[in-house]
This record gives sequence, structure tokens and C-alpha cells, in this order.
Amino acid sequence: MSKQHSLFKKNEEYEGIVVDLTSKAQGVVKIENYPFFIEGVLPDEFVRFKATKINKKYGFGRMMEIIEKSPERVEITDKLGLQNGTMTLQHMSYPAQLDFKQKLVADAFYKLGGFENITVKPTIGMDHPWAYRNKAQIPVREVDGQLETGFYRKRSHDLIPIEDYYIQDPVIDQTILIVRDIMREYGVTAYDEQTLKGDLRHIIVKRGQYTHQIMIVLVLNKPKLPKQEQIVEQIKEQVPELVSLVANINPQNTNVILGKENKLLWGQDFYEDEMLGLTLRISPHSFYQVNTPQAERLYQEAINVAKLTGNEIVMDAYCGIGSISLALAQQAKQVYAVEVIPEAIEMAKVNADINEINNVSFEVGKAEEVINDWQEADIHFDVVVVDPPRKGLAESFIETVIEQQPERIVYVSCNPATCARDCKLFADQGYRIQSIQPVDLFCQTTHVECVVSLIRK
Ligand code: SAH
Repeated sequence: MSKQHSLFKKNEEYEGIVVDLTSKAQGVVKIENYPFFIEGVLPDEFVRFKATKINKKYGFGRMMEIIEKSPERVEITDKLGLQNGTMTLQHMSYPAQLDFKQKLVADAFYKLGGFENITVKPTIGMDHPWAYRNKAQIPVREVDGQLETGFYRKRSHDLIPIEDYYIQDPVIDQTILIVRDIMREYGVTAYDEQTLKGDLRHIIVKRGQYTHQIMIVLVLNKPKLPKQEQIVEQIKEQVPELVSLVANINPQNTNVILGKENKLLWGQDFYEDEMLGLTLRISPHSFYQVNTPQAERLYQEAINVAKLTGNEIVMDAYCGIGSISLALAQQAKQVYAVEVIPEAIEMAKVNADINEINNVSFEVGKAEEVINDWQEADIHFDVVVVDPPRKGLAESFIETVIEQQPERIVYVSCNPATCARDCKLFADQGYRIQSIQPVDLFCQTTHVECVVSLIRK
């Protein structure tokens, strides 16, 4: 028997009403109860689409015409962005985006966490939800015989040249073009994924929101660029805010952007920015939230719900360069922080020094392992703050936290699905969810951050 559904045919056109939007912003149109997933449409729209794929239980469609528009539909700002799929929500009004993210979080807690009657607060958004990114990682490829910078076409590695990225700090956009033009002038070749030849793979530009300091990382396919000295001189001259110029060497055949080795080409091997009044040093490999003002709102929410009085022993797990740890330390007795990347912990220690904060102890290691050392050292935590990557917490970590019986747990999450799953485990062992606050750090995309406050019953 064919796996295809008998009612529908590939390349045929169909019409229907969009009844829902998935977490990836694909509209759902159901015909005879068979769902089609379609990009670029909004709930309540009546659309005509072409079936592009028919599976047994569901299909995919390409939108052909919007017959009846949603009142939440807005003019698309970045037409090229449609082709590279970086801004999957840009056709939706910003207030609707914030509602959508609130619902994403609520759905995760209801469907994946099994929480009923859970209230999720309205998403904290930005006044101007554009030009917010403080960091860009731009692939470099040859297009029509010329070195170009831009983004890949959706589901491919074909580069679409781009000059305005709309969601990045415009100074970062300009800096990419300056570097691109210098590379062209000196005959630098672009990396080719087929032949594995070429000099330059990526240009990374980071700029401090408050300090305006710029770090440029040139990701090279070889130890050195041709005419490197002249290139460095030119970049220095043409980017007045530059404080750090680094070559990252990545000769591997991989999609991972950064290689292990960094070589300082000019200036310092870090740049500085500020967050919640703290000065932070950031290195080429450090994690740093890409939307600084919204990250400050996120961290402030975490600090507020931690309700510190100055007497608490606090854990900050997954601490990165210490942004949250240092802010917590100002209101706690002692903070113990852990992070798996040694270089980030080195930075975190420097950050504690330059801010004259001496009540944080930073450990390198996996949170699920270091927590056992703290347990053995008889350290009792009053408050536990976690900010894990998308995959969430290790179950063994959750068990050890529960054994510790902290008064409060503050869960900062970039993935509502794993956050809801983990919160369920805490809830089963005597913790109650007090509040869930989504914050929009990635405007125009489907990503959402949230802070969940849990207290011991
Ligand atoms: N709280 C920091 C970093 C959050 S990102 C900030 O807001 O800037 C998550 C961090 O967890 C990353 O720095 C990553 O390196 C780290 N990490 C990933 N897995 C880990 C693990 N098992 N144990 C400890 N840290 C881990």
C-alpha cells in the first residue's frame, strides 16, 4: 500500500482556514481532518495553497494566495529574510507576536508539563522590536565570482548576499560591509564547502550595547590570511570602535562556526559591555545574550523572584561569564556558580574582580556533577537559579536539587518545552509554580525566554 494519503495529491491546490500556528510558526489548515502545515500564514486566514508533500497523517503546503487576511497581518519588512527564513514571524503584528509567545509557553506547561490552570504572564516585549542583536555570525561565500556576506537560503547552504539584516545593530551591519570590502580589495578568497578551499569562512562582529566596543572575529580556514598585516591595518583604520580583532582557526569540514584556536591580531582578546550596571568582559567563545536590554529585563525578573535579603546561600547553575551570578551576589550572602566551559569561568572570575564582587565562587564542570561536590561539602542552598541550554536540566541534577530542599528555585529558560518537563519533576516533589514570565529577546522569530519561579510548599 502506498504511504500517501488517498484524498490529496502533491502539486494540487487546496483552500482552507488556518486554525492554529505551531511553535515553529507553521499555520495549520485541516481538510477532512487531515492537517497541512504552511509557512507564512496566520490563524483565521482563509488561504489557497499548493500541496508540496503528502505524508500518511499530515502534509505540507506552499501558500499561493491569502484570500482573507488576518487583522494581525503586517507588511513584511525584510523581503530577503523571507528566503533565508531567519524571521519567521515578521508578517505578524508585534502585539500578536507577544501573545503568540505567551501561548507557546502556556501550551508547553499545559500539554508537556501536565499543569492545569496555570497562568502565564503577558510577554515582556520591546518598544522597537528591530535592530536589537548585539552579535552577528555571517557566512562568507563566493557568489558570481565575488566574495559575499549574507545568509543561507532556507534549508540550504546557498548564500544570499545581504547588506541590511534589520534585526542587527546597524553599526554591526556596516562593520560587516567594511570588512567584506577590505577582504575583496586584498583578494581574500571565500571558503568553499565543496572543495574545502578558500581563506575566510565567517565574519563575526559583536558590539557592546552600552560601551559601543566592537570585537571582530575572522574565522579562517587556514592559520593566516594572505596580506594579513595590511588587512589588519585597514580594519583598524576603518572601524574606529574596534577594541579586539581575533583570528579563529577552523580548518575542519564542519558546520560548527568556531574552531578551537584563537589568535589575537590586534587589541585585546576581549571586549566589554554593561548589564544591570555591571561591567562584563566577553571573549570570542563566551556565551552572551544577543539582546542586551531584554536580557536585563529577563535577569531582573529572575532577581526579583529570587527575593534575596542578603542572608542567602545561592546556586547559579549554567552561569556562563557570570552575568546572573554577579547580579545575584549583590543581594545574597554567598553565590556558588558553575559552568562547563573553562574559558567562560576564567572570564566570570575576571568579571567578579573588575566589579569588586568577592562573594561568588566559580567552578568549572557539569552542573550535574559539581552539585554533588557542593552537597558533599555540606553547602546548603536557600535559592537555586538555573539557566540551562535548550535541552534543559539533567534528571540527576533535579534530584540533587530536590534533596537540598531550597526555599526557592528560579528557572530561566530558552526552551519552554524542556522547562515545562523539568518543572513537572519539581512540582511532583513538593514545589509549586508561583509565576511564569515570558520575555521577548528574539523579536520577529519564534524563540522565547521565560523565568519560572518555584517555591517549596
Ligand atoms: N547564565 C548565563 C549563560 C546561559 S547559557 C547567561 O545568561 O549569560 C547556558 C550555559 O550553560 C552556557 O554557557 C553553556 O556553556 C553552559 N552549559 C551547558 N551544559 C552545561 C552543563 N552540563 N553544566 C554546566 N554548564 C553547562
